[in-house]
Amino acid sequence: MKTMIEPFRIKSVEPIRMTTRAERERILRNAGYNAFLIHADDVVIDLLTDSGTGAMSAQQWAGLMRGDESYAGSPSFYHFERRVQELFGFDHVLPTHQGRASERILFELLGGPDQVVPNNAHFDTTRANIEHSGAEAVDLPISAARVPGVAHPFKGNLNVDALRALIAEVGASRIPVVMVTVTNNSGGGQPVSLENLKAVRAVCDEHGILMFLDACRFAENAFFIQQREPGMADRSVREIVQEMFALADGATISAKKDGLVNIGGLLLLRDQDLFQQASNLLILTEGYVTYGGLAGRDLEAMAQGFDEVVQEDYLAYRVRSVEYLGEQLRNAGVPIMEPPGGHAVYIDAGALCPHIPPEQFPGQAVVCGLYRVAGVRAVEIGTVMFGGVQPGPHALPLDQRLELVRLTIPRRVYTQSHMDYVAEAVGEVAAMRDALRGLRIVEEPPVLRHFTARFEEL
Ligand SMILES: *Cc1c(COP(=O)(O)O)cnc(C)c1O
Repeated sequence: MKTMIEPFRIKSVEPIRMTTRAERERILRNAGYNAFLIHADDVVIDLLTDSGTGAMSAQQWAGLMRGDESYAGSPSFYHFERRVQELFGFDHVLPTHQGRASERILFELLGGPDQVVPNNAHFDTTRANIEHSGAEAVDLPISAARVPGVAHPFKGNLNVDALRALIAEVGASRIPVVMVTVTNNSGGGQPVSLENLKAVRAVCDEHGILMFLDACRFAENAFFIQQREPGMADRSVREIVQEMFALADGATISAKKDGLVNIGGLLLLRDQDLFQQASNLLILTEGYVTYGGLAGRDLEAMAQGFDEVVQEDYLAYRVRSVEYLGEQLRNAGVPIMEPPGGHAVYIDAGALCPHIPPEQFPGQAVVCGLYRVAGVRAVEIGTVMFGGVQPGPHALPLDQRLELVRLTIPRRVYTQSHMDYVAEAVGEVAAMRDALRGLRIVEEPPVLRHFTARFEEL
């Protein structure tokens, strides 16, 4: 088999500022050992997030120049709307500035006190918007999802038995919508099968409940379906995307992921009344319905991005490059969430650092180690991120929580040698794991503490 190459050439480059170990030591201390507080130009390889950090294509940059900035009825909107309707099969398309704006509008309409919204696993902004409306957000992952070392082709699947049990417990009238996140970001970037989507749809139909997709990484999910689901190998990714969305009553999408743009989002709806109400709310906070908080040029870049992201050479490279990093780590004996996800590799910091208890933040210790040895910025997804949150009545038991470090790969930005460098850094940190020290929080805000908390090493 030939080496799978990046299916693009590089036309414009951004220099990386190299730093020394001594500089990074000082930077880390000044940032209170919190990677979010490090300035981006002090980072060598930035794997904090894949959100809005991708590189646009020459065609997308050309779209920026074509963008029409009329307040109402811009041709850029109609171009964008047509492309989105063709790909996703929804008549009603609202642009938003990013995914959470779509969520904010949707849950103002569907949420509210006493309501319960299940999901395979809620992303943090989705959960926050549901809770802000007064509703309860419930995660219903399959059991394999909580065991990092166990591989499963569709580890993102929603637990359909648990969904039935929840409906029996709280009653269908309290569940306005079932969300399914594709791919499941909080659970390791793992895909959801078409079979599982159909099973969720059937349960929703039985009880008259709406089903929505949180579809930020819909193309990566569709590619995994093509590669892994029986009978799907001969279907195009575009067809699979259409089949996924045909099952849903609507979708919220952050275009900063599989839209291949730096800013933008979508709210897709089938119901005319819901669309009318959502349009009114959009005008209230985002902008008029033909631009939704964006510039006309952003709509052109998004239209083109949604076209490029379903190209299969791109997806094969994308998924392979993440898997490649996962293989390197596995070969170096580093425990990871198996299998590698579509957009990230998750290090199992709990297994890597058994000498650091959860209350001393093993994931944060690994994040600090990676920055120290190589200037690689990763993100903790564990007790720092979730430990400050008051668990709801349906929260997962504490012993099922994971201590993960996410290495998130921006789209079309880094090359194979960058990934080799990252793998070397992780290998170096793993080799000195016994010397890694836990941390304690010296300063933290009341909510979403991971963004601004300051730490001290123990
Ligand atoms: C990023 C993301 C969101 C929110 O989108 P933003 O554009 O960051 O507001 C929602 N759900 C999932 C699964 C995401 O990954």
